[in-house]
Amino acid sequence: MPRESQFVADVGTGAASRPAEEGNWRSRLARTARRWIDTQQPPAVAEDSDVLDRIDWLRASPFVAMHLACFAVLWVGVSPVAIAVALALYAIRMFALTGFYHRYFSHRTFRTSRTVQFIFAVIGASCVQRGPLWWAAHHRNHHRHTETALDPHSPTVHGFLWSHVGWFLTPHGFRTDSGRVPDLAKYPELRWLDRYDTLIPVLLAVALYGFGALLKQIAPQLGTSGGQMLVWGFFVSTTVLFHATVTINSLAHRYGTRRFDTHDDSRNNFWLALITFGEGWHNNHHFFPGTVRQGFRWWEIDLTWYGLRLMSALGLVRDLKPIPEWVVAKVRG
Ligand SMILES: [Zn+2]
Ligand SMILES: [Zn+2]
Repeated sequence: MPRESQFVADVGTGAASRPAEEGNWRSRLARTARRWIDTQQPPAVAEDSDVLDRIDWLRASPFVAMHLACFAVLWVGVSPVAIAVALALYAIRMFALTGFYHRYFSHRTFRTSRTVQFIFAVIGASCVQRGPLWWAAHHRNHHRHTETALDPHSPTVHGFLWSHVGWFLTPHGFRTDSGRVPDLAKYPELRWLDRYDTLIPVLLAVALYGFGALLKQIAPQLGTSGGQMLVWGFFVSTTVLFHATVTINSLAHRYGTRRFDTHDDSRNNFWLALITFGEGWHNNHHFFPGTVRQGFRWWEIDLTWYGLRLMSALGLVRDLKPIPEWVVAKVRG
């Protein structure tokens, strides 16, 4: 059964509630809770298990809860300051994902200091898209095996829904393929962030609650509160950030134009490029992933590239890999 059909069948029949591992519900919950905190806990199922590629709903329940928590806007209300914080956190974290998790950790398209590397790894970890090693390893496998059974999130092979929201919720998807990222695994601080990947998001959520509660005390005219700041700044912002990010796995392999005849279904899509700060030029990226730029023409808006140029001017990053001349010539036709 194709994975997308399996996903629908799981949801529809309740078959997914079948335990992914042995034991009563208490011991399963205890083991799952340990995996929420420490990703190096023993995996839920053996390597040859037939549920390796099926969604582990218990382990995935915080992801589902994050979506449900967005409905709490009905109780906490809204204020301009809460919206501003949600937007700012979307922008900062999208930049960390595209500039660092993707263009730096996954593709090494520029260099930076170990301090800046760590700072952006921490901001990246706050996106609730797991640690930098996990993210980069899966992404490198995506490029290595694009649109084959080994591609973790090909909409062509696995179906649209699976490529958008299913592939990372399985025992297989939860694993970090460390062999794919030896260049990153040599940094103990990155391994630590990857191992305890829920710590930074929890700290951000607590800080936002505290910030909102403080504003309620010292600036009640702003009309915010701890709960409101938590819901908008963390749950809503992170959920929107997540869905915007994974449009590149799902929509950008289906809708848009193909400048290059690559061996995959990648597309260039202006609207996706806007919401993902340049990642929507995905056909460009699959054709030549080795450059820091994803917009290949001046009018192909690539906010991440502008941000990295600014960081370069400030001396925070260096050696930005340009688009090679032969690619520029090909783009000009
Ligand atoms: Zn792709
Ligand atoms: Zn890439």
